[in-house]
Amino acid sequence: MRMYDIITQKKHGGALSENEIRFFVDGFTKGEIPDYQASALLMAICLKGMDEHETTVLTDAMLHSGDVADLSSIAGIKVDKHSTGGVGDKTSLIIGPIVASCGVPVAKMSGRGLGHTGGTVDKLESIPGFQTSIDPERFCSIVRATNIAIIGQSGDIAPADKKLYALRDVTSTVDSIPLIASSIMSKKLAAGSDAILLDVKTGSGAFMKTLDDSLALAKAMVSIGTRSGRRVMALITQMDTPLGCAIGNELEVREAAQTLQGRGAEDLTDVCLELSSYMLLLAGAADNLDACMKLSKDSIRSGRAYEKLLEMVKAQNGDVSVIKNGFAEAKFTLPVKASANGYITHMNAETCGLAALALGAGRLRKEDSIDYSAGIILEKKTGDEIKSGDIIAKLYTSDERKLTEASDILKSALTIGSSPPPHIKNILAVVSESGITLL
Ligand code: URA
Repeated sequence: MRMYDIITQKKHGGALSENEIRFFVDGFTKGEIPDYQASALLMAICLKGMDEHETTVLTDAMLHSGDVADLSSIAGIKVDKHSTGGVGDKTSLIIGPIVASCGVPVAKMSGRGLGHTGGTVDKLESIPGFQTSIDPERFCSIVRATNIAIIGQSGDIAPADKKLYALRDVTSTVDSIPLIASSIMSKKLAAGSDAILLDVKTGSGAFMKTLDDSLALAKAMVSIGTRSGRRVMALITQMDTPLGCAIGNELEVREAAQTLQGRGAEDLTDVCLELSSYMLLLAGAADNLDACMKLSKDSIRSGRAYEKLLEMVKAQNGDVSVIKNGFAEAKFTLPVKASANGYITHMNAETCGLAALALGAGRLRKEDSIDYSAGIILEKKTGDEIKSGDIIAKLYTSDERKLTEASDILKSALTIGSSPPPHIKNILAVVSESGITLL
């Protein structure tokens, strides 16, 4: 079998056989297939797609490319959550502690930033000392003791996805339904939780820009997970505008802590309460959604969820003082000001993500390191009224030379109009085994 022929087959839109897909995943994981051939195949898949059978085989090959976690030493229904990626999406840092503080174990493996989107592991690693690389035994023992641990995808869990993910990040081959569905589901199934809630983002800052594509992705993932015997649901959530006010690693950790103390932005708090309530429902913490919502709200109101965040950071060797007292501010800052009166009618989330990337908050190449202090605080958001000269956002970076370009990018994300835009819902649909409910 030759990679050249497999690439050609997909380039012409042909379906790949099970043997061909396994040959590719196996060979790439072992380092026998070079990045340039893998990139060519990934691009062909992006352009020509994959059918349900190919996607299922690809998921299975990636799932079995390494170890499958054994969480059986942790009592109860373990629940996991995964987002398809967004801008300002720090929900895992908020809902993990909420759910864990309600007595449901969260044994979570998270990813790094991808393209214009941020990743939970990068955010957590901005906390000095925080360990995201923890061996399976210690991981389980932390969850047994505290009900929560969030780590990076360990070297042995779905290594094929780990390598492909890094390559897709830098070859513009992320936004493909079969590639995203197989990437997410291979590692979620290998990570061993009993129940999985998928947060499928939709809109300008998501990999899926339209509701139809987001629903198709959600359906593909729910069906892969359910066929594997897990409880799986998906929420389609709004990512047309960045979530919350902070974009960038340290800034997002700070916003997550504020949200857990009841001082979060309305859209972020709303999405987090919905996500955590569905996670609690999947885990059977209560028998209906309203009761799960009450548990989620009480955990914030009582301070238990915030305490759980501190407990998690401490258990993973992180410096709790930065959560309590804040990080040192980035060396350089620049306000971005409005140049006209009116309303912000749109704030393109992907472009905001690219502005944060330009400040150093993410990677442009696989080997790039991250400036954890870099990012953006949005002082105004879609729907807000502005006057010329008002500060719309503040940029942060350790590299002064990056400010001008980032400011130009951020300004290009904004559309200003003379009247307020229609309100956009935060949660657009729920997808389960039994079908789609549009909200
Ligand atoms: N998140 C993932 O884990 N994989 C993707 O392909 C996209 C988002």
